[in-house]
Amino acid sequence: MNQPTCCQKSWISELDLGSAGGFEFTLGKCDQCESYWMHVYCTASNTSAFKSVSLADVERMKLIPPPERKAFMKSWGEEQGLI
Ligand SMILES: [Zn+2]
Repeated sequence: MNQPTCCQKSWISELDLGSAGGFEFTLGKCDQCESYWMHVYCTASNTSAFKSVSLADVERMKLIPPPERKAFMKSWGEEQGLI
């Protein structure tokens, strides 16, 4: 598993964003500098990675209603080159 690259410290999960596009997304942050990192798990290949998340995206992810979350996470994944 790739670790967040900011502090090489532990990551704390904060918000389960569910699955979209064959990936499971969990938002969390570095326990040292509090930068946000998305834990992305690919169900098909059984691999996972961390992606940095902008504060603007974090705000949107926290506020978006669950029915719209899946579509938003899919488009976020596409922007990150995952899907
Ligand atoms: Zn950090």
